[in-house]
Amino acid sequence: MSATTQTPIIPIRSSSEPPQVIAPDAETIFATRAQRFEQLAEGHSLGDWLRFLAAITRAQHAALQSLPALALPDANQLARAREHRMPPLPAQSWPRDPLWQTSLRRIAAAIADVAPEPARKDLARLAGYDSERIEALAERVLHTELYGDDVALLPYVAAALQVLWTAGAARLGAKHISTLDVPGVCPCCGFLPVASVVRGGGEVGNLRYLHCALCNTEWNLVRVKCSSCNATEGISYRHLEAEGLQGTDAVRAETCDSCKSYLKIVYTEKGPVDPVADDLATLALDILVDEAGYARSGPNLLLVPGG
Ligand SMILES: [Zn+2]
Ligand SMILES: [Zn+2]
Repeated sequence: MSATTQTPIIPIRSSSEPPQVIAPDAETIFATRAQRFEQLAEGHSLGDWLRFLAAITRAQHAALQSLPALALPDANQLARAREHRMPPLPAQSWPRDPLWQTSLRRIAAAIADVAPEPARKDLARLAGYDSERIEALAERVLHTELYGDDVALLPYVAAALQVLWTAGAARLGAKHISTLDVPGVCPCCGFLPVASVVRGGGEVGNLRYLHCALCNTEWNLVRVKCSSCNATEGISYRHLEAEGLQGTDAVRAETCDSCKSYLKIVYTEKGPVDPVADDLATLALDILVDEAGYARSGPNLLLVPGG
C-alpha cells in the first residue's frame, strides 16, 4: 500500500467500548456463585461436596458484607503502581488487614454445622491455631504453594483471603486497575486466573475475560491465545460432551501445545455460569486433559490439591 492511499487509524473511544478490566461487585459476586454451586449440585455425582462449597461461598458473602471499609493505597501509591505497571494490591506484598482472620473465623463458624466429618476435623484443628500460624498458611496460599502439611486447611484460608482481596478490588474499582504488560496475571493483585469467561451479550459480547482466582477481578484477553505463554497457535478446546461423558459444552478446556498448559473457559451464552463453581463441577475434564499431558496454569483455591 502506498503512503497516499493509507487511511490514518483514528482510535475510537466511545462509551460502548468494552472495558479492559471489570472489578468484582461485592454485593453479588459470592451470592451468585453460591446459587450456581447449588444449581450444579442437583443430580451431580459430587453433589454433597458442591453443596458444601455453596455453604462456604454463602459464608464468604456474609463475611464480605460485614467487613468494614478497607484502607487502600493512596493516590501516590496508585500512581506509582500505574507508572511501573504493577498491580495495586499485590497478593504477595499488599500489607493485608488482619481483619481477614476475622473473616476466616466467621466462615469457619458459618459452615461448622454443614461440614462433612473430615472437614469438621480440619476446621477444629484450624480453630486451635494461633494467628501467626494462620498467617503462615496465608503466605502459602498467596505464593501458590498448595501442598505439604495442612493442605486440607488451605481452601478455608483461601476463602477468607478471597473475601479480603475481593473487598479491596471492589472498593478500588476498575478505574484504578490498569492492564499489565504480562497478560496472564491479574492486573489488580498479580495472582493467576482460575478460568476464562466468554460473555455472551451487552458491551462485552463475545469477549474473553480471565477471572482472578484471588480477587475476582476480570481482565480482557483476546480469544484463542494461551494465557500462560501467549501462544496463538496449537490452541485446542475440549469438552466433556464431545468425549462422550456427562457434562456441558458451556465449559471447555483451552489447551496449549506450546507450553502444555490448560485453563478452562466458561461460556455465559449457554445460561448462568460461574468461573469458580463451573470449574469445580467439571473435574472430570481436568482428569481428561491431565491424562492427555497438559498441566493446569491457574489454581482453583477452593479445591484441596490432590484431595
Ligand atoms: Zn486478582
Ligand atoms: Zn501456552
